Amino acid sequence: MNYYSLHHKASKVSFQDAVVKGIAPDKGLYFPEIINPLPKKFFDNIENFSKNEIAFKMISQFVGNEIPENVLKEIIADTLCFDFPLVEIEKDIYSLELFHGPTMAFKDVGARFMARCLSYFNKDNNNEITVLVATSGDTGGAVASGFLGVKGVNVVILYPSGKVSDVQEKQLTTLGKNIKALEVKGTFDDCQRMVKNAFIDKDITEKIQLTSANSINVARWLPQMFYFAFAYQQLKQKNKALVFSIPSGNFGNICAGMMAQQLGLPITHFIAATNINRIVPNYLKSGKYIPLKSKQTISNAMDVGDPSNFIRILEIYKNDFVALKKHLHSYSFTDDKTKKAMLKIYKNSGYIADPHGAVGYLGLKKYFEDQSDKPLGVFFETAHPVKFLDVVEPVINKKLDYPEQIKKVINKTKEAIFIKTYDELKIFLLK
Ligand SMILES: *Cc1c(COP(=O)(O)O)cnc(C)c1O
Repeated sequence: MNYYSLHHKASKVSFQDAVVKGIAPDKGLYFPEIINPLPKKFFDNIENFSKNEIAFKMISQFVGNEIPENVLKEIIADTLCFDFPLVEIEKDIYSLELFHGPTMAFKDVGARFMARCLSYFNKDNNNEITVLVATSGDTGGAVASGFLGVKGVNVVILYPSGKVSDVQEKQLTTLGKNIKALEVKGTFDDCQRMVKNAFIDKDITEKIQLTSANSINVARWLPQMFYFAFAYQQLKQKNKALVFSIPSGNFGNICAGMMAQQLGLPITHFIAATNINRIVPNYLKSGKYIPLKSKQTISNAMDVGDPSNFIRILEIYKNDFVALKKHLHSYSFTDDKTKKAMLKIYKNSGYIADPHGAVGYLGLKKYFEDQSDKPLGVFFETAHPVKFLDVVEPVINKKLDYPEQIKKVINKTKEAIFIKTYDELKIFLLK
């Protein structure tokens, strides 16, 4: 499968090159040249397939013959070695729990898949690759865990000082080995800008092979298609329209859902639920895409002022604003609303939602207000509530237990290098 740059200046590349490069030389995101819908009978019979089989069917055309079938199947089995439970928390409203992986955030799937692809591509040579990634919270931990100990790959993670939760910080600063954490004085946008600069800095790119592990990278982004099919598999027999509400930051997750829809997965509607960083809700209202400086919220993994994958959504919809508006609603919610939703969910059903999941829940409720025909609604619970302990505990007035995955890191010592400027990053990378 070939991938083209969404800036249309760089040449087309293979899946391998798209994964290794991360972003095209013209700074565009890569996008698959062809999307072939899967046969309808696959979706009609989806209950007969295992989750590994579903994943293989969905992703294999995007990999093409660049990874042998048996290896791709192993990579998938290794990637999906945990569960994706669907929990009904109110009539016709479900939480798809994507937090049962090693770092308890949905990004584990993409990070694990990408790490294993890179490791396969790197199997015959000693060309070291440096994965350079900015995180607003969960990416860092998932990437650190997904890439830990992978041969030939160094990982450098930038995170905004004081703006990630304690658990998140521990997850990305305590692993050691091939994982290095840089604590940046600034916001997530500052981290992301530094990373983008490094990718176009010849002093760096002539010396080291850099790649990204944000959802910019196709191997991080595309495996997220699986979640939508896993939910559909469990709800298909109800024979009702299906709406997904995705708590969105860089819009990789929801955009993967749109790819799944392109493959033929019967999704009726998408809701992009955001915190007050409301670039996309504004866009759907005005037709104008205006990036803004990100604002800090309690759902910090979504504090993004210029969602990187939004351009892929426009590509899927061929820049047809009217068609996009037909398939996508987007709403923004304040921290106060989010906390009230967490409390309401807890009181009504005993379910503990994290702030991101709660934003997703609010998106569904808001959309349902205007629907006479109530469809089934699924919101993504993108992180375990314990990752946002300082927010969740006071809201529901209850102490949470640490799951095993968290106990393992919480008492380890943080190791991070503090940087303030791009030049400091450059010196670090070139030393
Ligand atoms: C990354 C993240 C999001 C946002 O996902 P995008 O694909 O960037 O839109 C939402 N919730 C949590 C917990 C996350 O870690």
